[in-house]
Amino acid sequence: MDRKDIRSMTIEELKVLMGELGEKPFRAKQVYGWFHEKLVSSYDEMTNLPKSLREKLSAYPINPLKAVDVQVSRLDGTRKYLFRLSDGNVIESVLMRYKHGNSVCISSQVGCRMGCRFCASAIGGLTRNLTAGEMLDQIYRIQVLTGERVSNVVVMGTGEPLDNYENLLRFIRILTEEGGLHISQRNLTVSTCGIVPKIRELAGEKLQMTLALSLHAPNDEKRRELMPIARKYTIEEILAACEYYFKETGRRITFEYSLVAGVNDSQADAAQLADRIKSINCHVNLIPVNPVKERSFRRSAREAVEKFKIKLEKYGINVTIRREMGGDIDGACGQLRKSYMEKTESEK
Ligand code: SAH
Repeated sequence: MDRKDIRSMTIEELKVLMGELGEKPFRAKQVYGWFHEKLVSSYDEMTNLPKSLREKLSAYPINPLKAVDVQVSRLDGTRKYLFRLSDGNVIESVLMRYKHGNSVCISSQVGCRMGCRFCASAIGGLTRNLTAGEMLDQIYRIQVLTGERVSNVVVMGTGEPLDNYENLLRFIRILTEEGGLHISQRNLTVSTCGIVPKIRELAGEKLQMTLALSLHAPNDEKRRELMPIARKYTIEEILAACEYYFKETGRRITFEYSLVAGVNDSQADAAQLADRIKSINCHVNLIPVNPVKERSFRRSAREAVEKFKIKLEKYGINVTIRREMGGDIDGACGQLRKSYMEKTESEK
């Protein structure tokens, strides 16, 4: 972590910093509260700090995210934000409103190097990791902009969170510990394409969050066609890591399965998938693939999705067809960011 990155610091690290600045330890708690509970984005707002301390802190830039675009769905109130980072890169985050509360989907990287064939975020490759502070600020800015409390967080936007492991853990700590938003780990989901050693490492952290695994195929051959990471780890290795995660944390795994017409949505695919995961304590989310214009994949017909669900249920598996949110805005992962970058590119 960058030694100046004050908003990614844990309370213990802030205490150390205060010591270095010749300040009392209780100042750490105040500063931490301003950042992570009151969600301010300038030192001027930290009214209970002496001016001399605020001046010292100005050497530690806050760099709040700047909302440069927002799209609001007329169908369900989903809001998609495009944020500019201090280095000019842009990322996107989504606010979804459910009956049980507000959920924010955040990005974990600028771009992604996993290369999944159906995913818009993969197209430009990876630019850089997001810091913990930048992950948190997506939630903070949305909460401030809407004035509504965020109760659930999903790390399912652009990027592979387990490819940015250290910053992800720091993000989880600050998000869920007391003194910040204090969101329950049970209300947090992290989605991965299946980096097996990192899943095992994460299991050892004994967090109470949900792990979502992007499976998308019933066998390695088909998975390799859709996801390059499948050349590195087999489904068998992934499922063993998932079972280990459940054993260590007691948390049921969610399998994500995007249905692509004629590729992974047949009844035989459903049967093969069911056979492999039926002994695992899990939940399956079916998502008709969001077409990305650079890719030729088509989404499965509603009837195929329904039949796929029924087949899995025959094996006793819990299945949900994910309700599509914001279908009328640049819905699929990375599409708003991409269209924005194309626009600014053509304006140059
Ligand atoms: N890298 C992580 C998290 C980001 S992607 C992961 O792979 O899980 C979040 C989810 O959206 C993943 O399940 C991903 O496979 C899926 N996804 C990406 N592009 C999609 C598309 N065009 N249609 C449907 N799902 C998509």
